[in-house]
Amino acid sequence: MLTPVADEDGAPFWEYAARGELRVQACAGCGELRFPPRPCCPHCQSFDSAWRPMSGRGRIWSFVVPHPPLLPDYAAQAPYNAVLVELADAPRIRLAGNVVSSPGAPLNSVDPARLRIGAAVRVAFAEIDGVTVPRWLLERG
Ligand SMILES: [Zn+2]
Repeated sequence: MLTPVADEDGAPFWEYAARGELRVQACAGCGELRFPPRPCCPHCQSFDSAWRPMSGRGRIWSFVVPHPPLLPDYAAQAPYNAVLVELADAPRIRLAGNVVSSPGAPLNSVDPARLRIGAAVRVAFAEIDGVTVPRWLLERG
């Protein structure tokens, strides 16, 4: 499976994830949240930043169900979902990921027919091939 590659700006995101925290980079000057992480605030050009904890709640903004041809490890798990989650605390920030039935469950653990745009989800974390990644669980109801 492909795992994220952390660069200098994004490293804190993965370090917090490894501790079970979803944090987003914020400008220390004007407070604007931004993602993906980068050195400079696009609003006020400040180079000072902080990492703000998020509630981990969000909604499915969009999703796809990838079909073959896929890389072999992914083909074995198809059909599965890939989602964009809009964060409740930062509606302009959308994280890519997968909805799964439990944090460590396989990619295909949720029937794609159960997914709806707008469905409420919450973050969970799983270590995959040595990297802790955020994944998403459907909220009940
Ligand atoms: Zn700023």
